[in-house]
Amino acid sequence: MMLGLLLARAGVEVTVLEKHRDFLRDFRGDTVHPSTLRLLDELGLGARFARLRAERLEQMRIQIGSTTTVLADFRRIPGRHKYIAMVPQWDFLDLLATAAAEEPSFTLRMDSTVTGLRRNGSGRVTGVYYRDADGADCELAAELTVGCDGRWSAVRREAGLAVVDFAIPMDVWQVRIPKHDNARTGEVFGRFGDGQVAVTMDRGDYFQTSYLIEKGADERLRARDIAEFRIRLAEMFGWPEQQVATVRSWDEVKLLRAEMNRLRRWYGDGVLCIGDAAHTMSPVGGVGVNLAVQDAVATARILAEPLRRGQLTTRDLARVQRRRSLPTIVAQRSQRGEHDLLLRPALAGTLDERRLPMPLRALRRIPALRGLTAYLGGIGLRPEHAPSFAYRAPNLDSVEQS
Ligand SMILES: Cc1cc2nc3c(=O)[nH]c(=O)nc-3n(C[C@H](O)[C@H](O)[C@H](O)COP(=O)(O)OP(=O)(O)OC[C@H]3O[C@@H](n4cnc5c(N)ncnc54)[C@H](O)[C@@H]3O)c2cc1C
Repeated sequence: MMLGLLLARAGVEVTVLEKHRDFLRDFRGDTVHPSTLRLLDELGLGARFARLRAERLEQMRIQIGSTTTVLADFRRIPGRHKYIAMVPQWDFLDLLATAAAEEPSFTLRMDSTVTGLRRNGSGRVTGVYYRDADGADCELAAELTVGCDGRWSAVRREAGLAVVDFAIPMDVWQVRIPKHDNARTGEVFGRFGDGQVAVTMDRGDYFQTSYLIEKGADERLRARDIAEFRIRLAEMFGWPEQQVATVRSWDEVKLLRAEMNRLRRWYGDGVLCIGDAAHTMSPVGGVGVNLAVQDAVATARILAEPLRRGQLTTRDLARVQRRRSLPTIVAQRSQRGEHDLLLRPALAGTLDERRLPMPLRALRRIPALRGLTAYLGGIGLRPEHAPSFAYRAPNLDSVEQS
């Protein structure tokens, strides 16, 4: 959606095909990082975004046994946005879709599922086949097809792009726990102990709670009584029994199958993958949606001009990968580091607060490092800025008022 908006602002004819009828999905990409907030300002959308219901998370803190460590402090990073904004993904996508609809060269077709890639005689991708809202088989010709179709990307599969998978130790259960006192914590808080890990995010009147389970253990664990899970959560966070009583059945516990992978080559002749389709991220740090947005910005900046001139080459597509590879690889390496140093030992019950991993000891001793971790997570390497064709002067007064 971001790429569609930016290309349309460059005057490029762009059609976004979305297989769902709406953007409704719970617990998906709700963490909007400072890099994305800054970009929205540059696109003149900061004031609209500020009107959405959002909670602000200013720090990430974990507790191992009785030892607390601040992993990241967003108040220390430069710029106006010193927090992660928690916004339902459908609100964010609706905002982008509304802004894109203001551009005459933008088309959004909902309820339209891509089923295959069109190719010419030499194998170059020339668009897509898709099933429209009425179930009719259609095709759409395009100079460039961009697979922004997520972790199960049909485009990357059809394009035959090779995927490198990384082992990941956990899957995640996600559940809402209502707050009792509505007190604001403004933080991401992880609790580690007795072979268990759970993380809460302050969502105003409830805690979005993620409970880590051993990879692939969902079915086995769901065979147990839900009451056991309620008791475990209540013990971990010191919640009274009635606070967790809202988790009445397993239907309320959503499974996130954590994946981590990356394409070797993000492109082929006439086709490019970005976002989760090019690199699915671990849920650690909530970076996935923000990296996808950064990919979109780089793609639009690099490709808008060749697309406008009708002179797009495969070399242009390679430039997109070159630009975005480093931030992706660094983010995935750091996630793998967190898996190995913290999550694997925590789930195995061997993480000992008396022998904390070195990075945690450093974060405890040197507060400035918490600003660095916040910067790397919240802004990242090679932050992308709105290209001049998409830039709209931000109305900062109305951003502040909202
Ligand atoms: C349960 C869950 C929770 C998550 N929580 C977070 C979080 O808190 N923070 C965070 O940063 N990231 C989170 N992520 C990851 C985040 O959602 C992704 O990294 C991000 O949304 C990637 O954006 P994308 O545009 O590449 O793909 P997506 O957001 O997955 O978008 C792909 C779109 O393509 C559509 N589509 C798929 N196939 C087709 C097809 N054949 N034809 C047409 N349309 C198609 C899909 O319906 C979807 O709308 C979470 C992921 C999951 C699964």
